[in-house]
Amino acid sequence: MHQKNIMKALVYHGVTKKSWEEKPKPAILQSTDAIVRITKTTICGTDLHIMKGDVPEVEDGRILGHEGIGVIEETGASVTAFKKGDKVLISCITSCGKCDYCKRGMYSHCENGGWILGHLIDGTQAEYVRIPFAENSLYHIPEGSDEEALVMLSDILPTGFECGVLNGKIQPGSSVAIVGSGPIGLAALLTAQFYTPAQIIMIDPDDNRLEVATKFGATHIINNSKEDAVEKIKALTNKKGVDTAIEAVGVAATFELCEDIIAAGGVIANIGVHGKSATLHLEKLWAHNITITTRLVDTVTTPMLLKTVQSKKLDAKKLITHHFKLSDIMNAYETFGHAAKEKALKVILSNE
Ligand SMILES: [Zn+2]
Ligand SMILES: [Zn+2]
Repeated sequence: MHQKNIMKALVYHGVTKKSWEEKPKPAILQSTDAIVRITKTTICGTDLHIMKGDVPEVEDGRILGHEGIGVIEETGASVTAFKKGDKVLISCITSCGKCDYCKRGMYSHCENGGWILGHLIDGTQAEYVRIPFAENSLYHIPEGSDEEALVMLSDILPTGFECGVLNGKIQPGSSVAIVGSGPIGLAALLTAQFYTPAQIIMIDPDDNRLEVATKFGATHIINNSKEDAVEKIKALTNKKGVDTAIEAVGVAATFELCEDIIAAGGVIANIGVHGKSATLHLEKLWAHNITITTRLVDTVTTPMLLKTVQSKKLDAKKLITHHFKLSDIMNAYETFGHAAKEKALKVILSNE
């Protein structure tokens, strides 16, 4: 039996330390807050970065998680768009809707929010979560939705789409290479197909992930632990390179690979979370009309992506490989942390 004001949550206790433990249930702090009872959540590659110590702002005692869906439990006095009992999708980005950045659609840099969930404030890997600026940071879940699929809309689909596909300016008939075939690279692969590029070449050292990429619509795959990716891309593109190179790993070598495979006039669109510097080969790129883009997801495309999932134009559920009870989250982290061995993409944690 749970006491009334106690819940269970996945709590970070410093590098490599975490536990599933009791925490006070969150309460409304501002009139713009909502409390959401989590029904489904997941684990992100970013959570693994936090556990490794790559995100040092995360404090001991923080509840992790920035993705999920749930049911409104309580709303602050000024929240009118949501009421108790409404099913909601939680955005990984919190936005006030009022600051300069929000007015420009750059929610990721909201002066009062941005990526704070499971980072600077308690997150979604818990039975309940407090969502600040609920009206701008939550979305109604349409009746009859496949709710598991919608968990993919909290972060990975908008991230792959905004940082990879939109920033990469993918055009009909163009050539695209995606370096990294993990969940984010695959989310970029799925959403790149809105624009019908002629070639989508997936590059990864894991054969299972490349096989998944083929099923998801990749036209070519390259295992860069066995083959020379630069040579193979030159062979596939009349020696030109690709029009769009998407970096979906977050290490120097994969960013530098993008520099080696980009065609004149092309775009290198970085998605990866980088903890170290990479070499910019300006001596090769300066005369090639190259654009390099970086972005933290704004989640401005979430309403559009929600429609594509609802209408079955985008099969988001394909990204889910494993299911756990929320209370079994420690095992879920083990599975997700050994993704290659476990053939894991996204895991769903259910609190029901
Ligand atoms: Zn994430
Ligand atoms: Zn704002």
